[in-house]
Amino acid sequence: MDCIFCKIIEGEIPSKAVYNDELVFAFYDVSPKAPVHILIVPKKHIVSVNDFTVDDNALLAHIFDVAKQIAKRKGISESGYRLIFNTGKDAGQTVFHAHLHILGGDTLCDLG
Ligand code: 5GP
Ligand code: ZN
Repeated sequence: MDCIFCKIIEGEIPSKAVYNDELVFAFYDVSPKAPVHILIVPKKHIVSVNDFTVDDNALLAHIFDVAKQIAKRKGISESGYRLIFNTGKDAGQTVFHAHLHILGGDTLCDLG
């Protein structure tokens, strides 16, 4: 499949790994938008949040649990961080393999 993140998961495209288990892989974003910018991807190719089903509930809970662990390990648990799934064109999704952005390490732009 011609998917950048599947290739990263397979190691065909190099990345800087942060976390790896049987369900998910996490790596540094190549073009960071904050001092800490990490992506968590399910190993299963899922296009976007729209394509998660109830069968993926445990996977989604796991993704958030891993995000929490990574935030703690990177020292941003207490200072704060943002978790984002960009979904579709208007949100600026550019890679159509669902991924959770972890952003932190500085005051982030106001979304309000
Ligand atoms: P999106 O805009 O789809 O929510 O996020 C895609 C993210 O993937 C972007 O922040 C972009 O910098 C990152 N990205 C795209 N291609 C690569 C790559 O080959 N390696 C890594 N590490 N990140 C990538
Ligand atoms: Zn993929």
